[in-house]
Amino acid sequence: MAPDSVQPAPPLAFIDLQAQRARIGDKVDQAIARVLDHGRYIMGPEVAAFESQLSEFCGATHAMGVANGTDALSLALVALDLRPGEAVLVPSFTFAATAEVVAYHGAIPVFVDVLADSFNLDPNSLQAGLEQARRQGLTVRGVISVDLFGQPADYAAIEAFCQANDLWLISDAAQSFGARTGDRKVGTIGQITTTSFFPAKPLGCYGDGGAVFTDDPSLAETIKSLRVHGKGTDKYDNVRVGVNSRLDTLQAAILIEKLAIFEDEITARNKVADRYAAIIADVGLAERARAPKLDPANISTWAQYTLTVDGERDAVAARLKERGIPTAVYYPLPLHRQTAYREFPVAGNGLPVSERLSETVLSLPMHPYLAEGDQARVVESLAAALGTA
Ligand SMILES: *Cc1c(COP(=O)(O)O)cnc(C)c1O
Repeated sequence: MAPDSVQPAPPLAFIDLQAQRARIGDKVDQAIARVLDHGRYIMGPEVAAFESQLSEFCGATHAMGVANGTDALSLALVALDLRPGEAVLVPSFTFAATAEVVAYHGAIPVFVDVLADSFNLDPNSLQAGLEQARRQGLTVRGVISVDLFGQPADYAAIEAFCQANDLWLISDAAQSFGARTGDRKVGTIGQITTTSFFPAKPLGCYGDGGAVFTDDPSLAETIKSLRVHGKGTDKYDNVRVGVNSRLDTLQAAILIEKLAIFEDEITARNKVADRYAAIIADVGLAERARAPKLDPANISTWAQYTLTVDGERDAVAARLKERGIPTAVYYPLPLHRQTAYREFPVAGNGLPVSERLSETVLSLPMHPYLAEGDQARVVESLAAALGTA
């Protein structure tokens, strides 16, 4: 290599899980070793311990570990007695699992639009979705809201809508566990809140995991039964048809160590997000790359830091990649445009915001250990990629 050649800086990580391991890796390894020693791999003592810590953390009376965030939603729907042919209002701009669980139970997801600035459910579109479903002769039972990228949805409006129309609410908090809206913590919203511990989520384990939260003792009892094949008091007299969906003891042991630093990590994530917003404004990019808008009443977990960019989004992402800056597009196709979901009803005359967002969103590297210098490099590269530097 010629001495005067400039070495490109090594690529950044999109989510740096190793940085967290450097902090608590020893504790996690010891926790894993303890489980290997006692050998109670299914519903071992760490599961109950983690569940009680979770419920203390978020304030929900009941917190139940399950196998993943998709099962958490699925069990919530079964516990709320969703029947085949009934309808549920869901946002189109979300991860597939939110609508998948509805369709999987033979029910009908009715797709609703989101707001351009928060990416979350548009309350006006909920009304349009309800009217659309009724025109098609469907019985709407409830709403699944999503706190996309970590920010709680507009629950004042969503809850008022649900109450006025006698609908239940499931809050899909797969990306927002740990967030707050006003003085309310995510986990206590809706009849049921669900979350995911997929490794890349803000509170992630080392595999699949999820949880269901509720204050309702009878829903809690039903979910505890459903996750173990519909068990009754006698293990071999199943009282309902259930599934096998438990949180592994190993994952619970890992999560106990991660939960201990989670509040601190949420603070760090918010610092990273504030710095991004400041650097983007400093570089004069704010017109071409709009930073996500946070409601001042909300604290987000910043599962993703998602911009909307002008111009050829995919070309911008490719130019960033050349400079060692990984980005991601969540989500390139709204659900109502995907092959499996195309035939389901949509609110109003289509979902223009979801469609536009799918063409303009771009998520930047985000994790609690992202250094200020690396963030400056991300934003400078973005300016270059947008042709403004
Ligand atoms: C990740 C995610 C899920 C599903 O969680 P898994 O644990 O991967 O099953 C559901 N909804 C949303 C919004 C998600 O981001």
